[in-house]
Amino acid sequence: MKKYCVGVDVGGTTVKLGVFLCDGTLLKKWEIPTNKEDHGAKIVPEIASSIQETLQAEGIAYDAVEGIGMGVPGPVLEDGTVNRCVNLGWGVFCVKKALEEATSLPVTVGNDATVAAVGEAWQGGGKGYSSVVMITLGTGVGGGIVLHGKPLHGVHGAGGEIGHMFVVPEETEVCGCGKKGCLEQVASATGIVKEARKALASSMMPSALRGVDPLTARDVCDAAKAGDELAKGVLEKLGHYLGLAMSHIAEVIDPEAFVIGGGVSKAGKILIDVSEKYFKEYSFHACRSAVITLATLGNDAGIYGAARMVIDEE
Ligand SMILES: [Zn+2]
Repeated sequence: MKKYCVGVDVGGTTVKLGVFLCDGTLLKKWEIPTNKEDHGAKIVPEIASSIQETLQAEGIAYDAVEGIGMGVPGPVLEDGTVNRCVNLGWGVFCVKKALEEATSLPVTVGNDATVAAVGEAWQGGGKGYSSVVMITLGTGVGGGIVLHGKPLHGVHGAGGEIGHMFVVPEETEVCGCGKKGCLEQVASATGIVKEARKALASSMMPSALRGVDPLTARDVCDAAKAGDELAKGVLEKLGHYLGLAMSHIAEVIDPEAFVIGGGVSKAGKILIDVSEKYFKEYSFHACRSAVITLATLGNDAGIYGAARMVIDEE
């Protein structure tokens, strides 16, 4: 019986890797820099040799490894073909085949946000639930869906692109994706800072945030936790739109749990409470009992989810 699996999370600056027991125990994790030379042509060979070296150093026999799972920052089709990863310089190619040829192990590939959701559903905030939606509030807003234990990649590899859900009809600025009114524009770290600046400029309300420069999402969250009314207003607006987006998602897929991760989720209970309040107000009664909880694996969610996808292939 195969005992081990390997999880790989490819990011724009580092590749995170982990060797796991198939029961979900993380044995060893490490990182290598993402080599973006030659349009990212060296990324897959360097991942392959790093895995081979580490397995050897750990005394793990190659034939005891079930396979390698990998999350990449872009859309992935069902056959393991990536459809452009701008961050890595990749165009359209079958990354599954490339890593299989380089390692002679079975490889499963998914979009990084979906893979992180698989990780949180397996060993993180969504543990114990089989249908989980993960929403990552970072520089942008990412999302991933696990339905009845299976990742939902979607036909175009864009399943769970929650950040670009249209929720703010009155938005005048353009999102990074080219549309207007995306959730990402109000619920990301960037969005929080933008909304706080707007609130500061449009009112005379006293606030600890006045004069703070550079202003970060963390400053806004910390001020809200300390009771600053203006900062609380910014989080209230975020909670309204996040609750609205979650109510729409719940009415389509009816999950057991929403897991909120990413840097902004460090705001903690105040963020959960405010988004839950609006989620309950906006959602249909039959799906209103979905749990809203915080992610627990942090930056390791990707390697956990990638490893889990290998086991799912059995
Ligand atoms: Zn967008």
